[in-house]
Amino acid sequence: MPEYRLGDIIDDYCVKCRRIMNHAIVSLIGSEPAKVRCRTCYHEQDYRHEEVPRPKSERKKELFNEVLSKMNPSETPSEHSPKSKSKGHADTGGEG
Ligand SMILES: [Zn+2]
Repeated sequence: MPEYRLGDIIDDYCVKCRRIMNHAIVSLIGSEPAKVRCRTCYHEQDYRHEEVPRPKSERKKELFNEVLSKMNPSETPSEHSPKSKSKGHADTGGEG
C-alpha cells in the first residue's frame, strides 16, 4: 500500500470533468486520502477511490437493447427500382 501525502497527485474521478483526472490530495485521514482537488477544474471533493459512477443513460440504453433483441431482426429490405418516366408535363397556367 502506497503512502499518501498532502499534495500528492493521484487519479480519481472528477464529478465536474466527469472522468478520471489528476487530483491533488488536500486532506488525509490516517494514510488514506480523504479529500482531493481536481488539477484541471480545481473542484474539491471527497476521494472516490477512482470509482466511476454509472451514467443514467446507460441503463436506458440497456433497456432499449433488451427490447430490440426481443424483436425479430430478420427483415431484409427488398430492392426494387420503380420504372416511372415523366416526360413532358402539361403546363396549363392560369391567368390572373
Ligand atoms: Zn475536474
